[in-house]
Amino acid sequence: AVHDSAVHWFDKRCLHTPDRIAVVDWKSGLRLTYRSLHLRSERLAAALQSSNIKLGDRVVILLHNQAEMLEAMLACGMLGAIAVPLNWRLSIPELDEIILDCEPQVLLYDDEDADIKRIMSGLQLVSCVLLSVAVVESDKESDKESDKESDNESDKKSDKASNVSSAGNANGDIGSAGEHSAGERTLVQRAALTLDDAWMMIYTGGTTGKPKGVVLTHGSVFWNAVNTVISWQLTEDDVTPTILPMFHTGGMNALTLPMLMAGGTVIVVRSFQSEDMVRLLNEERCTIALMVPTMYHMLIQSDEFARSAFPTMRTFLSGGAPCPLSVYDAFKAKGLPFKEGYGATESGPNNFVIDPLIAAQKPGSVGLPMLFSEVKLIPTEGDALLMDQVGELALRGGHLFSHYWNNPEATSGALREGWFLTGDLAKQDKEGYFYIVGRKKDMIITGGENVYPLEVEQTLASYPHVKEAAVIGLPDDKWGEVVAAVIVADEVTSVTEADLIVFCSARIGKYKVPKRFMFVTELPKTAVGKLDKKQMKQWFSG
Ligand code: ATP
Repeated sequence: AVHDSAVHWFDKRCLHTPDRIAVVDWKSGLRLTYRSLHLRSERLAAALQSSNIKLGDRVVILLHNQAEMLEAMLACGMLGAIAVPLNWRLSIPELDEIILDCEPQVLLYDDEDADIKRIMSGLQLVSCVLLSVAVVESDKESDKESDKESDNESDKKSDKASNVSSAGNANGDIGSAGEHSAGERTLVQRAALTLDDAWMMIYTGGTTGKPKGVVLTHGSVFWNAVNTVISWQLTEDDVTPTILPMFHTGGMNALTLPMLMAGGTVIVVRSFQSEDMVRLLNEERCTIALMVPTMYHMLIQSDEFARSAFPTMRTFLSGGAPCPLSVYDAFKAKGLPFKEGYGATESGPNNFVIDPLIAAQKPGSVGLPMLFSEVKLIPTEGDALLMDQVGELALRGGHLFSHYWNNPEATSGALREGWFLTGDLAKQDKEGYFYIVGRKKDMIITGGENVYPLEVEQTLASYPHVKEAAVIGLPDDKWGEVVAAVIVADEVTSVTEADLIVFCSARIGKYKVPKRFMFVTELPKTAVGKLDKKQMKQWFSG
């Protein structure tokens, strides 16, 4: 279907609930109503338009988790431009490589942000218009309206903000687009779009190789949001912190954009710190939160967590990587609803839903397929899967990505007849609930037997003095691969290899018990806390 704009749902949402708070910027204190967010996004869209951005053009975004990040995404959506939020934690050469790959027409950044400015000064391969959003003119009138309950800090931010400005580069400056008076709508020439038009390109975490540019259409975002709003019953009364980086799908699409569809409030947060998160959840009366296991691990160890009852929270969600069972236990002990979600950039990311009661009875399960998501398991060997047998997880639905950018080979490898082959392994119980058991690439084949690292990692982590464990396969002449473990213990001397072998042998099949061990003080992890197994393999070979 053709719409005046595929983000028309956002326009209507802003008409339905103009005075409700859409976004709170936790660092600056800025609070924006739906009306303000809409005006500011249109203003940014106009600024982009005056730098000739049009349908299909790429807009690279280098921003922290801040209100302007959402404005930038929405502005691109209005114009049919492809928003490419980049992981500013990457090295300069890595960023240069991505910029070369996606060939942006504009780079949006924040020239009041020291980290970002440092990165900007190092980039070599930018030959596009640079546009700063730090100074997007604040809509003072509407900000004031929405600021009824705000503190002084937020007023400071509104006053500080001024016009959109441009930063010069080889291609020359663009004119200032911020001359519009506060509270007035900016004239933006909306693109005529369909749900098949691209809205954003999000690069994957790069856990298993180089990051791939995943193109999400207006339809991907729409169906993912519809699925999520229905499954997690999001309403205007919901409030969520966005602590996962918004350049990843977890921070942008898992809850953030669905929350805006529902009319709830998103609190954008720049960096994770346990006490600060507990304070935020309580002060902002949050109802639902998504964090990665590493964050939960830190949260449950804090005194503030122990002291707080989180009376407004109805769901704690974990995703992005397998969640240690100890985290489930900590939440169960406090009677707090905790559940695990599974997602991938290519799938929108959400696919499964689980009721907290069932999640408590089935720890480790990611649940049942969402209403508009089809799920199947493809046998990795043989023709059919028996109950409880492991297969490759495949997904289908309007929420899927359309293709990988500049990578037709990867696209045809991952998308088969509408099914996305996730590269993850999963099994299903007799009630239809799914369990993720690991990545196909991480599966170890030793002496012809399949070993799923997650099962061995969970066994090792249940040993009293083991804080964390990672399991990898190492090449071996005799066995093909051997199981190896990297262990972080409470005190290195209190756990020995022999202890762990005895402990595991009593719990899992002999072929699964690690044959090689390494004790370390910390496991290498990616920006979102996923185990960096590439690096651990190098440790053993080095
Ligand atoms: P790359 O594809 O570049 O290697 P990446 O896999 O980290 O990077 P993402 O799309 O950010 O890219 O992550 C999706 C992956 O995260 C899934 O394919 C899966 O392996 C893992 N994952 C997500 N949620 C869970 C979960 N609940 N349990 C286990 N694994 C999960």
